[in-house]
Amino acid sequence: MAEKSFKYVIVGGGVAAGYAAREFAKQGVQPGELAIISKEAVAPYERPALSKGYLFPEGAARLPGFNVCVGSGGERLLLEWYKEKGIELILSTEIVKADLPANTLESAAGEKFKYQILIIATGSTVIKLTDFGVQGADAKNIFYLRDVVDADKLVEAIKAKKNGKAVIVGGGYIGLELGAALKINNLDVSMVYPEPWCMPRLFTAGIAAFYEGYYANKGIKIIKGTVAVGFTSNSNGEVKEVQLKDGRVLEADIVVVGVGGRPLTTLFKGQVEEEKGGIKTDAFFKTSVSNVYAVGDVATFPLKLFNELRRVEHVDHARKSAEQAVKAIKGIEKGETVEEYDYLPYFYSRSFDLSWQFYGDNVGDTVLFGDNDPQSQKAKFGTYWIKDGKVVGAFLEGGSAEENQAIAKVAKLQPKVEDLDALTKEGLSFAYKS
Ligand code: FAD
Repeated sequence: MAEKSFKYVIVGGGVAAGYAAREFAKQGVQPGELAIISKEAVAPYERPALSKGYLFPEGAARLPGFNVCVGSGGERLLLEWYKEKGIELILSTEIVKADLPANTLESAAGEKFKYQILIIATGSTVIKLTDFGVQGADAKNIFYLRDVVDADKLVEAIKAKKNGKAVIVGGGYIGLELGAALKINNLDVSMVYPEPWCMPRLFTAGIAAFYEGYYANKGIKIIKGTVAVGFTSNSNGEVKEVQLKDGRVLEADIVVVGVGGRPLTTLFKGQVEEEKGGIKTDAFFKTSVSNVYAVGDVATFPLKLFNELRRVEHVDHARKSAEQAVKAIKGIEKGETVEEYDYLPYFYSRSFDLSWQFYGDNVGDTVLFGDNDPQSQKAKFGTYWIKDGKVVGAFLEGGSAEENQAIAKVAKLQPKVEDLDALTKEGLSFAYKS
C-alpha cells in the first residue's frame, strides 16, 4: 500500500485540529505540507453544538453551519478552504497504529503516513454502560453523544418516538443539556444520577439547587442517589425499561447516557510519557518525544496559574492549546520565541434559556450571590471560590458579555478577600471593582 509523506500531520479531526489548521494557515504553510487524518467523514466542527442547537425541533444547526471556527466568532472553514490552502483533509480514516520512533502512522485500511512533526488531537471517547457490563445496555435506542453520527441517530429516534419517554443517565453537563433538548422536543424526561446533586464536580449545592428547581418546573423528573443497573427491551430489541439500583423501574423509549469520557491515548501507550490520564506536555504542548505534540482533551499540560499539571476537556482549551502548539512549532522554525501557555480555565454550558460561564478553579470556600430562585423570571446569580484568602474561581448564570468578562478578570487576577459576608452582599459588583 502506498505511503504518503507530510511535513506536519494532525491525527484527529475535531475542534483542536480545525483551530490548528487555521493557525498553520496564518503562520504560513505550503501546499502539501499539512495533513489532517480523521475518523470522521466531515471537516472539523464545533462539537458543543451537538448537544445544543443540533437537537432543536426547529431551525436546528446542521453542518456545514457549525464547522470551526464559528464557535469563537471566526471564519467558517469549509472543505474548499482546506483545498485552497493545500491542506489535505484525509477523512473517514481511522489510525490504528502509531510508531513514533519510525515517524509513521497506519490506518485501518493499511495506508501508511509519514510525518516530520505529529500533533495528537484524538480527543475523548464516551464511557459506555456496556464497559461495566450493565445488563441489557446494548439494547436499541440507548444513545451516547460524541460525534455527528451519534447526534444523527439521536435525532432519528426523537422523530420516531414522538411524545415518548426519555431517561437520561448521568447528571453532568451533557446530561443536563440533553435533558433540556429532549424536553424541548416534547418527550417526557426523567434524569437519573447517583450524586446528591447535578454537576457535582463543579456545582455547589446552592448552584445545583437552582438548575434542579428550574428543570423540575419544566416538568423534568430528577431521581438522585441511584444508578441504572439494567435495561429490558421489547421483541424488536428496543429499550423499554430502565431498572434502578433502588428497585424503581422507569419506562423508556429513548435512553441517553452521559457518564463521562476517556481521553483517546491508547495508540501512543508506552511510546510517550503520560500523566493524570493524558499525554504529558510542556507549556508548548510538546510531548516527551521531541517531534510529537498533543493538544485538546488528550494533553496534560502545566497550568501556570495554579502551578500544576492538568488535563482540561473543554472546547476553549482545545482551541487555544492547538493554536499554542502551532505557534511553538512555527516559532522553532523561524527562530522566534513563543510565550508559555498561560491558561485561565473557562467552561460554559447552555440549556433552555439558561446560560452559565465558569472561570478559574473550583476549590476552597464558596459564596453564593444574587437571585438563584428557579421561579424568578430573570434569575441571575453566581458563586466565588476562595482559597488562601483569594478569589480563585467565579461562576455566573445569566450574565451579559460584559459581566462574564468581569468574572473572568476576577478569576485571573485572584484579588484578596477578607470578609465573605461582605463578598456575598457585594456579589457581581465585587468583580467590577477588581
Ligand atoms: P475532539 O473534538 O473530540 O476531536 C477528536 C477527533 O479525533 C475526532 O474527530 C475523532 O473522530 C478523531 N479521532 C480519534 N481517534 C482517532 C483515530 N485513531 N484516527 C483518526 N481520527 C481519530 N466543552 C465546553 O467547554 N462547553 C460545552 O458546552 C461543550 N459541549 C460539548 C458537547 C458535546 C456533545 C461533546 C461531545 C463535548 C462538548 N464539550 C464542551 C467538550 C469539547 O467539545 C471538547 O473538549 C473538544 O471537542 C475537544 O477537542 P479535541 O480536538 O481535543 O477533541
